Amino acid sequence: MIIESLLQAEQAFSREVVEAGDYYLKVVKKGQTFRILDLEGNQAADTLFYNANDISERYSATDTIREQGNLYLTSGSVLMSNECQPMLKIVADTCGRHDTVGGACATESNTVRYALEKKCMHACRDSWLLAIAENETLGLTKKDITHNINFFMNVPVTADGKLTFADGISGAGKYVELEALMDVVVLISNCPQLNNPCNAYNPTPIEVLIWQ
Ligand SMILES: [Zn+2]
Repeated sequence: MIIESLLQAEQAFSREVVEAGDYYLKVVKKGQTFRILDLEGNQAADTLFYNANDISERYSATDTIREQGNLYLTSGSVLMSNECQPMLKIVADTCGRHDTVGGACATESNTVRYALEKKCMHACRDSWLLAIAENETLGLTKKDITHNINFFMNVPVTADGKLTFADGISGAGKYVELEALMDVVVLISNCPQLNNPCNAYNPTPIEVLIWQ
């Protein structure tokens, strides 16, 4: 569902542009709102969330899908944790649909989906591993990288249950906005998208803004 935000970009206390292939890692406090802005369109923002006060509690796609009774995420979706606690709520969305079943790109999956020689190319999972290695104090390890949200990605499920990776429905300037319902660690990989034709092989930056 399309809901526009009333928040003004100039009033955000934090604004950060994230290049494709880079990661974004920040703690967003309970009650704060943040926006992921697709600057040029059709990016994929592969995102993980953790409870900032107990890193073992994390975003759970299965709990979220079951609780809302819908496969897709959009305004009104409450993102649930693996302890079935509400972590965040999508409060605005100008894209209309986000995926949480397709998973993130990895060097391994790229070889299966595209070609064997893609093995050495950069993937979202690499960005997350780098984030974890460069921010040891958080206490995250490889096993904490689990199912994620692909903001702006369009992965429709067909009537007979098949997963399809379709062209994006996002565009330049579209955004999704979330309110934190607990203190959360936000870890985003702005997908390098080196293999995915959905963005014409032209990976572009995103911007993340946070309001008090
Ligand atoms: Zn990716």
